Amino acid sequence: MTNKVTTHDIETQLRDELGLTGNVNLIAHVSLPAFGVVEGEAKAVVAALLATAGTVMMPAFTYQTQVIPQVGPPDNAILYGTGDRINRKAEIFRPDSPVHPDCGLVSETLRRDAGTLRSTHPILSFVAQGSQANKLLASQTRQNPLAPIAWLEAHGGFVLLMGTDQRENFSLHLAEQRAGRKAFTRWALTLDDIEELPNIPGCSEGFNAIWMELVEMTTVTHIGMARCEIISLKQLLAYTEERLRIDPNFLLCDKPSCLSCRTREM
Ligand SMILES: [Zn+2]
Repeated sequence: MTNKVTTHDIETQLRDELGLTGNVNLIAHVSLPAFGVVEGEAKAVVAALLATAGTVMMPAFTYQTQVIPQVGPPDNAILYGTGDRINRKAEIFRPDSPVHPDCGLVSETLRRDAGTLRSTHPILSFVAQGSQANKLLASQTRQNPLAPIAWLEAHGGFVLLMGTDQRENFSLHLAEQRAGRKAFTRWALTLDDIEELPNIPGCSEGFNAIWMELVEMTTVTHIGMARCEIISLKQLLAYTEERLRIDPNFLLCDKPSCLSCRTREM
């Protein structure tokens, strides 16, 4: 037997168990199927987040805009000249481009909400709504796509995972870059150009290796069937950066065929 999860259930848990208030600004990563049955589906989750947090940001990434050039910088975890099929299917980035399915339906639903703002990075845009949304999104530049994470960290913000694991915890990439791990250059179609975009993070398939180590700084609850957890960005980033400096191969995946991780292995 399954009970339906309602907006009210989600709001109550977010407030009472995870401590969300109107002063809390966060980045959320949400898997809708993880809850079980949600009455009102993705809209119900968006409504609950907006009702409880001060500012809610989510990834609105558009990997579908990427193209692969014939040549480019070395050690870039890309096979130049192999993009014929991908390049033909690539889509131009527009402010209303749909979020890539990997970011999930809740992110796409937040994007579609009338009160939501979006940054303009052609691959790694974010959507946000709330009192700090404008400043938060304005911090992102082509050179520094992870700046909104740093902005949240500097303003006491949090990461909220709802039914997702650490592989979705995009903020860990900021700790990687601070610890000196290489990022990559990628290319995306925009209305009048192919833009070259630096500092794009790599594979996150190995990120669950940190999960158990974060237990003491994490607050956990269950909403429906979804494990939900919140963690301070300041603590998360400081710990992860330090950990990566001690073990430079920490958080890389172990797939022999992963160009991204094998390129960055020490
Ligand atoms: Zn990998």
